[in-house]
Amino acid sequence: MGGGPAGLMLGRLLELRGIDSVILEARDREYVQQRVRAGVLEQATMDLMDEVGLGERMHAEGLVHEGVELRFDGEGHRIALTELTGRAITIYGQQEVVKDLIEAREASDLPLHFEVSDVSVDPAGTVRYTHDGESHILEADLIAGCDGFHGVCRPTIADVLTVYEREYPFGWMGILAECAPSSEELIYAHHERGFALASMRSHEITRMYLQCAPDAQPWEDEAIWDELDRRFGMSVNRGPVFEKGVTPMRSFVVEPMQHERLFLAGDAAHIVPPTGAKGLNTAMADVALLASSIGDEAALNAYTERALERVWRVQHFSWWMTSMLHRMSDDPFETQIQRSQLRYTVTSEAQATALAFSYVGLPFITA
Ligand SMILES: Cc1cc2nc3c(=O)[nH]c(=O)nc-3n(C[C@H](O)[C@H](O)[C@H](O)COP(=O)(O)OP(=O)(O)OC[C@H]3O[C@@H](n4cnc5c(N)ncnc54)[C@H](O)[C@@H]3O)c2cc1C
Repeated sequence: MGGGPAGLMLGRLLELRGIDSVILEARDREYVQQRVRAGVLEQATMDLMDEVGLGERMHAEGLVHEGVELRFDGEGHRIALTELTGRAITIYGQQEVVKDLIEAREASDLPLHFEVSDVSVDPAGTVRYTHDGESHILEADLIAGCDGFHGVCRPTIADVLTVYEREYPFGWMGILAECAPSSEELIYAHHERGFALASMRSHEITRMYLQCAPDAQPWEDEAIWDELDRRFGMSVNRGPVFEKGVTPMRSFVVEPMQHERLFLAGDAAHIVPPTGAKGLNTAMADVALLASSIGDEAALNAYTERALERVWRVQHFSWWMTSMLHRMSDDPFETQIQRSQLRYTVTSEAQATALAFSYVGLPFITA
């Protein structure tokens, strides 16, 4: 269920193992391919794209980064990711990953149905849906609930789930603009007025974020640029803004991630605040584990336990980065703790190394 990164990658992994699958997606193809979300691929996600034979465009067009900058008190400090870990990250938009996976599915002539509706799931193994005006029933050995945070799979088994959740009292206002990035690597800025992130999609497209009220309406472009200058303490490159929006921030995990023949993966089971760039990568980690467990009942029974081991590490890192970098409250004690943590992170090699290993990503677990 779901034609996002998790569902599409699972379909590809199953194809390579010779296991039949049908992918059902509620939205149309155009929408799914244009949906701008994550942009940072961990090393293990890049390795997975290579493993399934779809790394070519990612290597040609993606931007490999070997460091990130933490900026506070008007100064930037580089965390040398590759020097500290031997690994790197790649900037390659989630929608590009999705395009590559859809093209591959199409080339293999395997079922991927867009614009399905009236979807209902029986965790014993039955899926009902409507497509092209006709009702269908699918009997499956296994249903993968890869239908995101707002899908139908998780609510279907709500009775057996324990929910762990934290909402943050802020959101991110994000823009995409036609101009060269202001720096070659990502900049994470802590400022008394709030957090800011300078990122990119390519050498020509800039991606920027500002901490804002969770229910804020996107500001005028000029006000966004002025605020970015203030928080970064420098004059950032400006250009026409062609997309902007506000994303709320939440940490969320359900346990277990399975019930009967239904297995949840990706955003259907957990959400992180985007500060650690982990959402897409964790979705990929889940399906790598799930695909390798299919056909082995003991491994399938252990899916929740093994997936959550990694998920909670990622939850901790995302929460920690968020708490260190954002304006969390008006409490001056909290601000001093954050500044101390930031200074320690950029001056202690041990602490910088811990950040770097989590940022480039933990290895994916397989059965
Ligand atoms: C606005 C936004 C910005 C983000 N930015 C970042 C970022 O900068 N960095 C980062 O790491 N992460 C980011 N994320 C998170 C990241 O995009 C997700 O973690 C990732 O998309 C998870 O993939 P998924 O396949 O599990 O879920 P999704 O990508 O949500 O895919 C689920 C799919 O299921 C489909 N679906 C839903 N209901 C049904 C149904 N009933 N039947 C069939 N199909 C259904 C949906 O249309 C969707 O295509 C962002 C998320 C959002 C919403």
